[in-house]
Amino acid sequence: MVSFCSALPRETLLSIEAEVVGLSQFVEDTTVNSVELKARKVFVLSRSITPPFSVEDASVSNAKLEEQPFYHPIHQDVRLDNRIIDLRTPTNLAIFRLQSSVCTLFREFLLSKGFTEIHSPKIISSASEGGANVFKLDYFKGSAFLAQSPQLYKQMAICADFERVFEIGPVFRAEDSNTHRHLTEFTGLDLEMEIKEHYHEVINLLGELFICIFRGLEERNEKELKIISYQFPFEPLKYRNPPLILNFSEGVQMLNEAGYPMDPFSDLSTAHEKILGKLVKDKYQTDFYILDKYPLAARPFYTMPCPTDPKYSNSYDMMIRGEEVLSGAQRIHDSELLTERAKLHEIDISKINSYIDSFKYGCPPHGGGGIGLERVLMLYLGLNNIRKTSLFPRDPKRVTP
Ligand code: ATP
Repeated sequence: MVSFCSALPRETLLSIEAEVVGLSQFVEDTTVNSVELKARKVFVLSRSITPPFSVEDASVSNAKLEEQPFYHPIHQDVRLDNRIIDLRTPTNLAIFRLQSSVCTLFREFLLSKGFTEIHSPKIISSASEGGANVFKLDYFKGSAFLAQSPQLYKQMAICADFERVFEIGPVFRAEDSNTHRHLTEFTGLDLEMEIKEHYHEVINLLGELFICIFRGLEERNEKELKIISYQFPFEPLKYRNPPLILNFSEGVQMLNEAGYPMDPFSDLSTAHEKILGKLVKDKYQTDFYILDKYPLAARPFYTMPCPTDPKYSNSYDMMIRGEEVLSGAQRIHDSELLTERAKLHEIDISKINSYIDSFKYGCPPHGGGGIGLERVLMLYLGLNNIRKTSLFPRDPKRVTP
């Protein structure tokens, strides 16, 4: 039996009839280390071929890799080419249990606040966010596009009197961005809601939502967090409750004072975002914060200008460890202003007529936001690459497996 078993390739699935015996000695590097099995019969359920790398090698901790230079880390592309084997590591299984928890917490929180879950179309007739970052596809005798966000449709749901809606769904971006934080397909956690008095109702709800997700992960996924931090050690996320809200202009001022000047009316560059994250952490001891009142010029056409200073807008981003995880705003609910803003952004009005027309039949003030699921998890866990938090990542160079 021993020689039969030792000839079996790793990853073969066995059914074993055995006696469970206690162990006097602690065994390292196994998930169960206080008992062992004395096998009587061994059956092969499913024989594996020799895998390209072992799950053990794929599980080596960062600390061990640094300590023992003879360990060669398995290259990310090799892992992703063989994602089935790679996903078998305890760390990866834990990462995707955590991902599932983020979605559950998002859904539970919003349902408890009276939101309705919707499913908007992903095949659409024109680019939802404008611009060139859209995938075009053949659609029978014509062409169509893949949705860059559920933006227009979740707003149309508000026009249709749903009051509060959310969606968890795929988002497609034809950006040739080969970075640690961009995918061409990611999962969007989106919401949109009516505003009664002030758009800060949306900001406050979003802040509460993030705190609920962070707390929920700590409470429900302690085991998974421990497993992940064994392979990829990270500092637990620091956050304040209620979260810190800074105005964009305060952020610009902090950057200026620290010697990193920037144009106060353009968007933050990735480098500025990172530096500001560090400055905020030093000053306010938080890894999560909200940046409010972005310059209007840095935001999409449907963003509501600030009523008191039209150089700014009622819009915000939310950051984890110095990187954006959410972008949101109060939206324009007046069709004339929307048309004017779209023209200013050089958007072909004829292509978004049905969207603009939706606001002609009475629409309440509303706002919302879009969160990138993979990005939230990557930054929460302090991981260095978004491909680690996407089950089968899609980027400009990868559409398989
Ligand atoms: P960035 O400036 O980082 O490219 P963006 O401004 O294009 O992001 P939005 O269009 O506002 O992002 O999208 C909302 C959220 O969706 C972002 O905060 C981020 O969490 C996520 N997201 C956006 N683009 C990507 C992408 N290419 N891959 C993964 N997640 C993304």
